[in-house]
Amino acid sequence: MRTCPDCHAEYLDEPELCRSCGAPTISQDQAALWAALRDRIATERLVAVCALESPVDEAFLRRLLVDAGIPHAVHGGSVGGPLPGVDQGAVQGWGTLLVLEEHEEEARRVVRRYQESVVAEADASEPTA
Ligand SMILES: [Zn+2]
Repeated sequence: MRTCPDCHAEYLDEPELCRSCGAPTISQDQAALWAALRDRIATERLVAVCALESPVDEAFLRRLLVDAGIPHAVHGGSVGGPLPGVDQGAVQGWGTLLVLEEHEEEARRVVRRYQESVVAEADASEPTA
């Protein structure tokens, strides 16, 4: 079974994305990590690891973080507004990706790899004059 970390829908047929809200689903093993994140959202400061520029950015990065087993939350983004209880002020741009402090370094590595792959793709598609 997989569950949605955002709207908590449960799926026996294990889709990659939630059919209600589009978030990447997580495994049973990962559910405990996300529950810990939710418990701590209200009491601890989450770290903003990167700004999300678009829904595509959000979808790719969330997928990569789920695959890496890193619980995260999105301030804004497809949720459409500020994350309740999070001290991050107004949503800037499309949204912000947030993680617990102990996952910051790992999350930044995932984000950096993603950003490098996006740049590499853009370079590859540029015409060589
Ligand atoms: Zn959902």
